[in-house]
Amino acid sequence: MSAATKSYLAFVPQHAPDAHGVLAIVDGGDGPEAEALVSLPDAPSATVLASALNGVLLHQVTAERHLEAVLGGASASTRKTISALLPILATATEDPAASRVARQLPTAGDGGFLLFPTTNCPGRCEICGTCRNDCVECPECADGGCEICLPATLTPRTAAVLGHALAILADEAYDYVYRTRMSRDGAPGPLGAVLPCVTDQDDWFLRRYARTFDDLSSDLQVGRYPTPTCTAEEIALDLAIQDAERLYHDEHELVADLESDLPASRSDYDWDTLQDVLFQDKDYEGLLSHRMPLARDEAEGWFEEFGNVPPRDRYRGFRR
Ligand SMILES: [Zn+2]
Ligand SMILES: [Zn+2]
Ligand SMILES: [Zn+2]
Repeated sequence: MSAATKSYLAFVPQHAPDAHGVLAIVDGGDGPEAEALVSLPDAPSATVLASALNGVLLHQVTAERHLEAVLGGASASTRKTISALLPILATATEDPAASRVARQLPTAGDGGFLLFPTTNCPGRCEICGTCRNDCVECPECADGGCEICLPATLTPRTAAVLGHALAILADEAYDYVYRTRMSRDGAPGPLGAVLPCVTDQDDWFLRRYARTFDDLSSDLQVGRYPTPTCTAEEIALDLAIQDAERLYHDEHELVADLESDLPASRSDYDWDTLQDVLFQDKDYEGLLSHRMPLARDEAEGWFEEFGNVPPRDRYRGFRR
């Protein structure tokens, strides 16, 4: 980082008896500093704005919606400051280190899977007018005519089942590396987390492969779409969506348990849409059924970063 650039690490609300605002935690090259960003009329607005700005740093699905909601009641100068800030945050988040601090902040209120929306219906929609309550009785939406009130891609319940699939696949892959539990005898586990074409790759490959499931899961934890940054992550995400669909159809008790504290949505469990929306392309698909062992350099290519999505933080370490 050059001395001239200032990076935004996180945002926190500031509450005093008669004033409320948002502080930006910035790093101008000499370590972190707090900087007053905007003042707001009340405490909840300051809290929501700070959390929405952290959401922008983390690519949260609902960050923009929360921003709009809170800026609607804000002063013109606050709106101006925030709209000047957003393009800076958008560029900054290409650096994976940029979200390191925001990722560690404890979330007040809804965290994890609850960060995903149950509906995209805004309550007063600029296309279909009075549309509300998830588009109930809206003629425009019944005809599929509104491009704002589209079904939610990833709902809290879908995210919970997908998150569970990612967790068990990660463990199966780690078990194969360390010859533990189901893989004590050296055989790959029953879920097929480790594809036949890479079962004989070395431990370094297999550990990084197991970590891809955890990386995608870390996206879900911060309310972001699981976003593959390399071929290995695309394979992991495809396997996880397939396994989540299997859980949904076969493991009713487990699913009931996973969804118990989460709101329902008419868009729940649309696995086909996830397969369509979460991938840049489907070039990796042939590998899913590839039986012949891959050569070392071919397999290594699975971890080449795509370059058009922010890469993972290289200092993130391994869970196991
Ligand atoms: Zn609607
Ligand atoms: Zn509508
Ligand atoms: Zn609408």
